Amino acid sequence: MSGDSPFVIFSLLPYLCGILGLLLLWQYHQKQVLAGRIQAIDIFDRSGIRMYVFATPDDGLICNACWEANGMVYLPSQVANKDFVPRSGPCANSGRCTIVMAGMYGAWLEARNVVNRLRAAGTPGSLKLSVQELSELLKGNWEQSVSAATDRLAVLMLAALSGEKKNPDAAINAYQLAIREAKEVHALPLVVPAFLRLAEVLMNVERADEAVAVVQEFEERYPREGRTRPYDPTETQRGLMAIKKSRLKTVSIGRKG
Ligand SMILES: [Zn+2]
Repeated sequence: MSGDSPFVIFSLLPYLCGILGLLLLWQYHQKQVLAGRIQAIDIFDRSGIRMYVFATPDDGLICNACWEANGMVYLPSQVANKDFVPRSGPCANSGRCTIVMAGMYGAWLEARNVVNRLRAAGTPGSLKLSVQELSELLKGNWEQSVSAATDRLAVLMLAALSGEKKNPDAAINAYQLAIREAKEVHALPLVVPAFLRLAEVLMNVERADEAVAVVQEFEERYPREGRTRPYDPTETQRGLMAIKKSRLKTVSIGRKG
C-alpha cells in the first residue's frame, strides 16, 4: 500500500493545480472588485469622502475674503495639497473668521449632482455653490441616503452655520452633536469650529452659564501641554475662545453687581 501514496498524489496533481488556479483567479477577481470600488468612491481618499464643502457663519462679521469661501466645494485631492487654503485672498480679520470644512460622501440627489459637477469641472477641482444652491444641498433627502451616517454631522453643522439667528436651538444642538460625536478623521475638522460657534450662540441667546461650561470643556479637551494632534485649535482659535471667556466674565460680574 505504501507504494500507492506518491501515485495518489501524482494522480491528484491536476485537481490540486485546478483548485490553486481557481484560488488565484478568485483573488485576482477580488482585487479587481476592490480596486473598482475604491475608484468608485474616490481614488484620492479611502475614507469615502468625495467632496469638501466650506461654509462660514452668517453673522455679518466675516470678512469678504472668507465670505468668498462660503459655498466653495473641493475635490479631496485639492484639499490634500500642503498649501491648500479655501479662499483666494488673506483673511482681513487676521484669521479670526470661522470657516468650516466638511467632508462628505454625498449620496443623495442634490449632493450627487454637486459631485458630478465638481468632477466635470476638471483642473481647478473646485466649484462655488451660491447661497441658494448650498441651502438646497443641505435640505436634500440626505437622511434616506446610504451616506446618512457618514454625512450626518457635516450636514447638520453646515446647516447650523446659516441658521444661527433664525433657529439658534437647532444650531446649538448641531454644534453639541459635532463636539460629542465627531470621532472619524473626516469629521474631526468640525469640532473646534463647533466649540467656537456653540459658545457664541449660547452667549447671543443669553445662556451664559452654558457658554461658560463650553469654554471649560474646550480648555479641558485641548490643554496647552501635551502633544498636538491634527485639527487641534490654532493659536488664533485659542485666542478667540479666550476673548469669549473674558466677555463671559464681564457678563457674570455685571449680573452679580
Ligand atoms: Zn476672514
